[in-house]
This record gives sequence, structure tokens and C-alpha cells, in this order.
Amino acid sequence: MDITKIIDPLNDAQREAVSGPGRSMLILAGAGSGKTRVLVHRIAWQIQVQGALPHSILAVTFTNKAASEMRTRIEDLLQISARSMWIGTFHGLAHRLLRRHAKQAKLPESFQVMDSDDQLRVIKRLLKDINLDDSRWPPRQVQWFINAQKDEGIRASKILDSGDFFQHQMKLVYQSYEDICRRSGLVDFAELLLSSYELLRDNADILDFYQQRFQHVHVDEFQDTNTIQYAWLRLLTEGRDNLFVVGDDDQSIYGWRGAKIENIHRFQRHYPNHKVIKLEQNYRSTGHILKAANQVIACNEGRMGKELWTDSGDGEPVSLYAAFNEQDEAYFVVEGIRKWVNEGGKRSDIAILYRSNAQSRQFEERLMSTRTPYRVYGGLRFFERAEIKNALAFLRIMAHHEDDASFERVINTPTRGIGAKLIADIRTFAREQGLSLWHAAETLIAEKHLSARAANALAGFLELIGQLERQTAEMALFEKVKYVIEHSGLIAFYNEEKGDKGEARVENLEELVNAARAFDYDREAEENLGELDMFLTHAALEAGEMQGDAFDDCVQLMTLHSAKGLEFKQVFLVGLEEGLFPSQQSLEDLGRLEEERRLCYVGMTRAMEHLTLTYAESRRLYGREIYPNASRFLREIPPETLQEVRMRAQISRPLTAVKSRAGGLGSEGKYKLGQRLKHAKFGEGVVLQIEGSGAQERVQVNFSEVGVKWLMLAYAKLETL
Ligand code: ATP
Ligand code: MG
Repeated sequence: MDITKIIDPLNDAQREAVSGPGRSMLILAGAGSGKTRVLVHRIAWQIQVQGALPHSILAVTFTNKAASEMRTRIEDLLQISARSMWIGTFHGLAHRLLRRHAKQAKLPESFQVMDSDDQLRVIKRLLKDINLDDSRWPPRQVQWFINAQKDEGIRASKILDSGDFFQHQMKLVYQSYEDICRRSGLVDFAELLLSSYELLRDNADILDFYQQRFQHVHVDEFQDTNTIQYAWLRLLTEGRDNLFVVGDDDQSIYGWRGAKIENIHRFQRHYPNHKVIKLEQNYRSTGHILKAANQVIACNEGRMGKELWTDSGDGEPVSLYAAFNEQDEAYFVVEGIRKWVNEGGKRSDIAILYRSNAQSRQFEERLMSTRTPYRVYGGLRFFERAEIKNALAFLRIMAHHEDDASFERVINTPTRGIGAKLIADIRTFAREQGLSLWHAAETLIAEKHLSARAANALAGFLELIGQLERQTAEMALFEKVKYVIEHSGLIAFYNEEKGDKGEARVENLEELVNAARAFDYDREAEENLGELDMFLTHAALEAGEMQGDAFDDCVQLMTLHSAKGLEFKQVFLVGLEEGLFPSQQSLEDLGRLEEERRLCYVGMTRAMEHLTLTYAESRRLYGREIYPNASRFLREIPPETLQEVRMRAQISRPLTAVKSRAGGLGSEGKYKLGQRLKHAKFGEGVVLQIEGSGAQERVQVNFSEVGVKWLMLAYAKLETL
């Protein structure tokens, strides 16, 4: 038995955690201290040394990327397949339970998972149906309310009717929403968790079965579990002492979605025999990066408090770039990537991290125009793009006629002359008769309730779906997808859309065929489900994580939230501006501001060797031009770990100017009025005016040959004479 492989690459504290006797444990430690490594090695130890069956292992984490990394690492360590272990995200595992026990969970066998976009559509339609004005009852707020209740484990029927009008209305809406979902066999993300919790709670035999099976339960990123996730874990480990959790209170970034840092305290109460182990050595980042991140997080109050150190040396200082605007920011980052790659670096070692999805576009455009391969994770999600959702909706409605959300999506896409009025009539009829939209449409046609034109158009749609079903019945998954995108008219529809956009949509549809081809169908794990259904579920659950071949050497783009747990040699953390990061909503709320700071800490600690921070002095955001201040987080970084980068222009600045930059206080330039200088193209001239600061600084020069010109100092190649 070779246990050196499991134990050798660990320090003493890690070893203690990995090889400790079977009991509950809490590993509480900062970023990059090896928590995930400990969790993986613990599982290997349990199997290799303690004789645990792979079958008895349950390990939960937050992203599919993290789960698949965990799986690979275990397989590498043990040289066995991890197939029989349950390793996945909370949502993924909850889904698996519900599939296995749909009946006991009171769900139809063929239930469909809907993502938050689909959920919002259902809610919008519902509000219309019950005549609630969506300016007073914004659909997003309703969605938020419903999900928050579910995250707390509260059903509509359990909401107290205290006489409060808002509460009362919301309760009614939540109730109708539950009805619709049940009728159409739709399950949203929060419902996956709640239903699977109730399944275990209400079925003693099932609970007993899984408690017996899962002798060892592990959770990564425990600080981000919410109430229902914790309750689920607690059921599975009730009366036992087998819950192994790792986490970092400083990386709790899902408070806004109901995550409860108190779960760490609850754990300590509920598992009184547990052992706490702290890890303090950071193995990920070089000294400057770690020091900068430590200082930022130190500005938060009420931390559990822990120190991190590294013996890897200072490394390079953290780079700071003040961009002129968001385009310049993208330009700078992509230029940095080019250099890295030219020097032999891998693109997949680089991440661009941003606060909000909308920021990815600038970088995507720049990367595209320089033909740099990249992958967007979690952001502009592949499976969430309209064209992809339309294609998937065809596939769904073919397989499940009662899927109302899909029916609505494609009934008139591509356009086939079915107007809003007809759709509204179908809806009303469906509601009155308690039918699915599909069934309502069939009935309306059969009972001749419609005008000939309407009946024809509608029958045409039903017939199209029927035809697609028949023609593809015997096909392999990817052939089916290919057939459907062609024969549904989607390809032709997007081909007609002018310009790059239509072209990109067609390419995406083609990529969907590739995704279907690459789809790894795990028959053993999901015995109850056909391949198409698995693929559709995968599309709903794993949005954005399967774009083409994962082994391509691509630059990684993602939000800070999806970067949790990952690491990259080179990280560009962009958009460090007040109002963007920290976000506008957090500026007046200390709790949220601290969560933003934790997010900043998460971002900075993803970097192993190089960390570059950027902000723009002007930015076009949501269609408006704004002039943000540099983020307060930049001011919290010790200046000795920072180095300002000037691109192209060889202008050196006095150190005081560099320091004050982060504070958004202007700077002293190098040029004076009346100074003589030389420009590579325009020749010699005299400075007339100086304006702006930082990357926006510009000078007006009277050139003897070409006359007066304004020049951006950051770009112009100027020499003083
Ligand atoms: P995060 O909080 O960001 O999730 P983490 O605590 O889970 O971080 P890991 O991802 O497990 O940290 O480890 C960070 C890096 O340090 C990884 O590259 C890991 O392989 C490496 N590492 C961890 N422990 C050791 C060790 N004892 N010796 C060498 N490298 C280590
Ligand atoms: Mg980790």
C-alpha cells in the first residue's frame, strides 16, 4: 500500500487533518492554504488506509469546474475511477436524488430543470395571468422573494399571513407559481435543493438508505452554504460524526443569495465532537500578492482572524494600470496576454476576472480581434444565449409536450405568423381548463375555437414538432441536435440576421452540435434518464462550463464569483472602480461592502505569480459615460507591494504621483507649459496647455510644421528637448 503519495505532499497541520481518525472536522483557513488539497487527500486516505468504499464517499462543492477538478485529483492519487463516488455541486447532487426518487418527491418522472432565465419568464407570465402590474410587482423582485423563501426552506403554505399586504400578495404569487411548476413538471434551482431536502426529511426509508451509504461526507467552500444546503447536510449526517468541512470566513461571497456564515457556528454546535484545524501557510501566491490581499481583507471587521504566510519569496509587485477608458483597459490586458504567450506562457494559465458579466464584452471583442482563443465561464453563458436556448427549447418540447416555458419560447420563433393575441388566447384557455399550453393548443384546434388562419398557423407549429420528433427518433444525440437546428428553421432565421451577430449565432448553434457530440453520458449514475434529457439537464445546470474542448489553450474569463477555489499563474483583476467594484448597491451598506471586500480578496488570491489590477478613468456603462473614482480597495493595498504600469508611452512619474493615483487624486506631470518637445511624426513643438491626469492626461502642442495638436500622453511618443 503506497500511502506516501497521499501523505508526503502535506505539511504537519494538513497531515493531521488528512490522517485523523473518523470524526467530524472543520478546516478553517485562508486562501491558498491547501484546504481543497486536504479534502481530496482525506478522501484518498479514507479509501486507501481506512478501507472506505468509494461508494460511501459524498463530496460537495460549488461549481462544476471545481467538482470535476476534485474528481480528477482523486483519480490521479488513487489510480481508480471515482465514478461510484458522489462528487458534485449541491444542485447537481440534489438533482440526482430527485431523478432517482421522483415519485417519492412528488415530481413527474420527466421533470425539467429550468434556469433562472426560464424561471423569470414563468413568473412574468404568471403576473400577467393574475393581472398584477409588473411595475408595482417587478418580476425580478418576485423571483428573488420566491427563491429566498425556498433557500430558507419555506413553502408558500408556510408563509405567515400577518395581514401585511405585500406579504399577502407575495404568498399568493408564490402559491400560483408552485402550482404552475407542478403542473408543467418544472423545477427551478432553489426547488432542486428544497425538494431534495423534503424528500429526505419525509421518507425515512430513503433517508436511512443514504445515511447508511454515505459514511463520509465532505464539503468544500463550506462558508457559502445556505440554510437549506446546511439542513440537507445535517439530515444526511444526523446522529453521526462524519461531516468533514473546509472553508474560509473571509471568502464568504454569497450572503446576497442566502449563504449563512453562521453555518460555521451551527456546525460547531451540532457536531460537538468535531476537531478544528487551522492552516496558515499559503502555497499559492508569491509574497507581494499575499501581502496585498491580506491587507485588503484586514480592513473588514469581525473576522474570525487568521494569518497567512508564505515562504515563496516576494515575487513581482502587483501591477496597477490606470486605463483611459474601458477599451484602453481591454487593450492593455490583451497586450499583456500577448507578451506572456510570446514568452512561452500558456493562455490557460491566465484569467481575466471581473465583477459583473457585462464587463466581459470589451475583453471578448479585443480577444477576438487579436484572434486570441478564450473561454467565458459562467458569464455570457453559452447555454444562456438566446439562440442556444431556442434550440434547446425545440428539443425540450419535442420530448415533453407539457413544458410550457419551452412552448412559449419557440411557438413563434422563427416567426410563423402566430401573433400575441393567439398566444394569449391559448394561455387563457390553458389556465381555465388546467391544461398545458400544448394540450390547450390541440384542444382549441380540435374543437374549432379558432379562425381558419390561426388554426392553420398553430397546427403548422404542432406538426413541425411532431415531424422533428419522428425524423430524429432513431438518431444519436448530436445528429438529433444538428437535425433540429436545421429543420426547425433556426439556422435560416439567424442567417438572415444581418452582420456579425447573426453569424456568431449560427456559429454558436454549430457549437451546440459539438457540445452534444462531446457530451459524456454517464449511464450508470443516471439510470432513469435518457441521453437527451441528461443533456438538457446538463445545459440547465452546467451553463457556461462546456464550451468546446476544455483542453484547448484558452484565456479564461469569468466573474469573481465563479473564480472561487481556482488558481492561475497570471490574473488580471479589472474594473476596480467605485460603483463597479465595490458595486453601487454596496456603497451604502456596510455589510454588503464587506462582502465586496471579501470578493476582492477572493480575486486577488487567485493569482500565483502575477497579479495585475486595472481601472478605467472613464467608462461607458449601461449606455452612459461615467468618470468613476478608483476603487477604495486599491487604497487599502500597501504601496510597497504595488507598481504602476505605463504602457507604450515611456513616461516616468515621480513616486508620489504613483501613490496618489490610487486615491484618485491627480498627479504631477513631467511636462511644463512652454516646454519644447519632439514627436516622432509631427516634429518639434512647444507645450501650450496640459489637462487631465493619469492615463487621461493630455497636452496641447504647437508644432512648427503641422500646427496645434492635442496629444494623449499615454499614447503619444514624445521626447523632451
Ligand atoms: P482556496 O481558499 O482559494 O480554495 P485552498 O485553501 O483550497 O484555496 P488549495 O487550492 O488546496 O488551497 O491549494 C493552493 C495551492 O497550493 C495548490 O496549488 C496546491 O496544490 C498547493 N499546495 C497546498 N498544500 C501544499 C503543500 N503542502 N505543499 C505544496 N503545495 C501545496
Ligand atoms: Mg479551495
